[in-house]
Amino acid sequence: MANNRTFTMLKPDSIENGNIGNIISMITEAGFSIKAMKFTRLSEQQAKEFYAVHSERPFYNELVEYMTSGPIIAAILEKNNAVEDFRTLIGNTDPSLAEKNTIRAKYAESKGRNAVHGSDSDENARIESEFHFSSSEIF
Ligand code: UDP
Ligand code: MG
Repeated sequence: MANNRTFTMLKPDSIENGNIGNIISMITEAGFSIKAMKFTRLSEQQAKEFYAVHSERPFYNELVEYMTSGPIIAAILEKNNAVEDFRTLIGNTDPSLAEKNTIRAKYAESKGRNAVHGSDSDENARIESEFHFSSSEIF
C-alpha cells in the first residue's frame, strides 16, 4: 500500500504575503491532516542540501537565496494517496500553467516564488520529513 504521508513547505513568499491561514485552510479542507508542523527558517546549508538534486540547474542559486530569504512553515500531511493528491492540490510548478483553484494558481507569484513545496514520491516524502523533523515532533 502507498505511504499516506507527504511533506510540504509554505515557502517564504506565502509568509511574506500573509497567506498562511488561507493555504492551511485549503490543505485541511482537501482532507489532509497535520502530523507535524513548524515555523522555521532554512540556513543556506539546509536549503542547498534540501534542493541538492537541482544543484546543476541554472535556477539553483536563486532558489537557495529565495528559500533562505525568510521563514517557512514545514509540515507533514496525512491522507489516502497523499503524495499524488497533494501535487494535484498545489498545481503546476509554474502558476501560469496551474489548474484553477490550485494553491499555486491562487497564491504563487511566479515559477520560482511558487508558494508551496510538495514531495514528488513516497521515498522523497520520507527523506524530506526526516530532514525537517525528529521522531518526537511527528504525531
Ligand atoms: N524552480 C525555479 N525555476 C524552474 C524550476 C523550478 O525557480 O525553472 C524552483 C521552484 O521554486 C520549484 C523548485 O525550484 O518549486 C523545485 O523545482 P521542481 O522542478 O522540483 O518543482 P516542484 O516539484 O516544486 O513543482
Ligand atoms: Mg520537486
